[in-house]
Amino acid sequence: APTIVWFRDDLRVGDHPALSAAAERGAPVVCVYVLDEESPGVRPLGGAARWWLHGSLEALRRGLEALGTTLVLRRGAADRVIRSLVEETGADAVFWNRRYGGPERDLDTELKTALAEDGLDVKSFAGNLLFEPWTIRTGQGTPYSVFTPYWRACLSAPEPRHPLAVPDVLEAHVPDVASDELATWRLLPTRPDWAAGLREMWTPGRAAAHDRLEEFLDERLADYDDDRDRPSIDATSRLSPHLRWGEISPFEVWHAVRERRSTGGAGGGAGGRGETTGRARFLAELGWREFAWHVLFHAPDLATRNWRPEFDAFPWPRLHPAALRAWEEGRTGVPIVDAGMRELWHTGSMHNRVRMVTASFLTKNLLIDWRIGEQWFWDTLVDADAASNPFNWQWVAGSGADAAPYFRVFNPLLQAKKFDPDGAYVHRWVPEVDTEEYPEPIVDLGESRAAALAGYAAVKSAR
Ligand code: FAD
Repeated sequence: APTIVWFRDDLRVGDHPALSAAAERGAPVVCVYVLDEESPGVRPLGGAARWWLHGSLEALRRGLEALGTTLVLRRGAADRVIRSLVEETGADAVFWNRRYGGPERDLDTELKTALAEDGLDVKSFAGNLLFEPWTIRTGQGTPYSVFTPYWRACLSAPEPRHPLAVPDVLEAHVPDVASDELATWRLLPTRPDWAAGLREMWTPGRAAAHDRLEEFLDERLADYDDDRDRPSIDATSRLSPHLRWGEISPFEVWHAVRERRSTGGAGGGAGGRGETTGRARFLAELGWREFAWHVLFHAPDLATRNWRPEFDAFPWPRLHPAALRAWEEGRTGVPIVDAGMRELWHTGSMHNRVRMVTASFLTKNLLIDWRIGEQWFWDTLVDADAASNPFNWQWVAGSGADAAPYFRVFNPLLQAKKFDPDGAYVHRWVPEVDTEEYPEPIVDLGESRAAALAGYAAVKSAR
């Protein structure tokens, strides 16, 4: 009888433990992706994410076809869809790689129990995180809430396993099962088509992910530590959406970086100083991704609730819709903020340093609740994920794990001076910045900062 492999945030054929285990069983393999917009608590994908998903599913289908099978597309509440596919195919096993969000975990656990009660072999595998969130614990047995000791603990845990190879051609005779046409899911924008900039910037899929990684290791790793905070320089890996969708696994990235001993850039090359510090720094960034999932695993409502409950006392003023719109559209009159928000709209991404600055500006100068900004990023980022996005928003807002102290309010003008000293980044996205056309800032940076600090005083006394 066939094995069903349920693909979720792991749209790849290599280093896919569930697919490899299914291949080893020797029976026909039915690969399925379920677009689930019905299950309670599962957060609907944002627009940029839907765009990415379309391309990624096409690429995955090509990858599976090369292995002699195909990708079955189904839409609906996932538990119902998978159970119906079991009936249609007569499958006696269902395999998947684990998910770590609250509602997804609940769904998977219930389904696993129900299928096992029906006598199926149901297995879940570790495929998307280097360190399973429950395995890294403090001396007291509690989850970590500060990154540095967390990452130290990860680095002294057993090293992440080596990636698995792409399986050989899968057993044929896949039962003939119906699949939706991808186009009917309408994941791509139609009118208006806002995705031109995304198409220019990104190629979803496993092959493109590995190309990015190789290019990064060859050309940028050595200078990564020096240049990663400069938004005008193409210094980072841009792997985040590929990791978000699991087109490349963190195990593949980890070992490729660790095993790299080759030519480098100006930072020293050939295993020189730049490459060594670049490598450690880059792995630590993967560590932040792990940490965000660790925190989400232990606080599943991270996107909706302050991780530090005393922040519930923050007196957010009444929302000013015009200010919010100016932020979203990159018309705040603060150049680095406007550059970042336009980059986001145009490309579905934004440089990490500028994400921090724009998020700080929204929460600490416009005094708009971080959840509203998080939602905008959720809708517009191609890498938006259930852990990293709320985790980082709360980190900037001060309400999160290992967050910057509340009184540290970024001054966006000083940030621009420091990280975009020649203005190259701002000029790329806000070419009118030096003309009369460019507006005055919509808020007074000093006054709004003072108001934020007054709000945080309320938080402090609620502690
Ligand atoms: P690189 O510098 O090449 O880093 C390598 C990888 O490490 C990234 O691909 C990413 O997977 C991981 N990483 C790096 N920094 C972080 C971080 N701070 N938190 C978690 N993982 C990190 N990242 C997302 O993947 N999804 C999000 O939804 C997201 N939302 C964010 C919201 C805000 C307000 C902020 C400040 C940051 C957010 N980030 C998010 C983190 C970070 O900005 C991006 O991961 C990074 O810009 C991606 O570019 P890169 O792949 O070139 O990163």
